[in-house]
Amino acid sequence: NFKLVNDSLGHSAGDQLLKIVADRIYGLASDHGSIARIGGDEFVIILEDMDVESSLALLSLIREAVVRPIALDEIELRVTCSIGIASYPSHGKSAGDLLASADMAMYRAKELGRDGIALFTSEMTAAVRKKLSRTDELRQAVLRDEFVLHYQPQVDVQTGRIIAAEALVRWQRPGEGLVYPGDFIALAEETGLIMPIGQWVLKTACRQARAWQDQGLRPIRISVNVSARQFQEERLIETVADALHEAGLDPSWLELEITESLIMKDLSGSIARMHELQKLGVKLAVDDFGTGYSSLSALKRFPLSRLKVDRSFIADIPHDADDMAITSAIISLAQKMGLEVVAEGVETEEQARFLIESGCNQIQGYLYSRPVEEERFSRLLEG
Ligand code: C2E
Ligand code: CA
Ligand code: CA
Ligand code: CA
Repeated sequence: NFKLVNDSLGHSAGDQLLKIVADRIYGLASDHGSIARIGGDEFVIILEDMDVESSLALLSLIREAVVRPIALDEIELRVTCSIGIASYPSHGKSAGDLLASADMAMYRAKELGRDGIALFTSEMTAAVRKKLSRTDELRQAVLRDEFVLHYQPQVDVQTGRIIAAEALVRWQRPGEGLVYPGDFIALAEETGLIMPIGQWVLKTACRQARAWQDQGLRPIRISVNVSARQFQEERLIETVADALHEAGLDPSWLELEITESLIMKDLSGSIARMHELQKLGVKLAVDDFGTGYSSLSALKRFPLSRLKVDRSFIADIPHDADDMAITSAIISLAQKMGLEVVAEGVETEEQARFLIESGCNQIQGYLYSRPVEEERFSRLLEG
């Protein structure tokens, strides 16, 4: 599989490029075996009666030839080349199996830096098989409604009152107990299952916020985490509007948490999206702030209401002077910009004291409460 690095060419130039790459491959490999092009930028080379070492040597030569700069219309082009190797019969007895193994190895090569050679190993099948079955279980979980939300209070330390709840998803896996998001959100993101899961989270959180209001409890804001894929999806605005409408929740009670690193991936796209969300009337918070290297001038362009100081800065207070300096700088910056700021992961009295002294009044963390089930949370709200 090869890939163009500087892609500013038209279609016909793409064809020329493909021909040049193909010529390089054929030139080196045709004496040793058969070559086929399967799909746009993928080639298969079958080397017969050749051991793994010699194959590796030959394929390394081919790779070096493919990645040599190509001059086309006075532009110098570079391609990357990823190769996966599988050998018969140990990695597959049929053509299909052998090809699937080579494909897996090629993806491994890509993972290792998208540009290189990887040999198929039996661990790969084990890993892929495990991932596939986990994906299957997760898909079943969506169908069977195996998720629950826990809620973690955010407290205003001046008044001692709960002002908001962050909704945190858990997977109630039959026979395994609670599975935490760290163990399934990445897979959900990769497989697209985050869409139905995220939609469920939004609906459930909005419904819960409304239910607490209906129980006569003091209204609080509900914060929902939005993943990368959700944030980029065209239908996000509709999904959010639907969830609010269905629950009968006023948009101003919903806050969406978007991580700083996600925003920075495509700054202008993110800003546009944030404005669309703001038009709906929902609040926006930057999650994990301080880890994503956003510039202060960029921050000014976000339609934000809150910053969440990342847990990693709070963890080593009061032992890490740098973290303390960063934390208090973030707090005063946020205040100058008219933003609310909440510190997450606050576990000790000392951390809380430092934050209050630095001017941060909103605190979320084990010190006050762990994330809890809905009934427990109602009791915290009553108390
Ligand atoms: P996050 O958004 O940074 O959420 C805060 C995490 O810190 C939660 O972990 C919470 O339980 C934990 N935490 C809160 N207070 C403390 C504390 O005092 N000390 C320590 N050590 N940890 C504390 P959790 O629930 O395991 O969630 C992990 C991550 O999974 C979240 O990080 C968030 O990125 C993601 N996540 C959770 N729920 C959802 C969801 O519904 N959708 C999406 N897309 N992601 C979610
Ligand atoms: Ca969060
Ligand atoms: Ca966070
Ligand atoms: Ca964090």
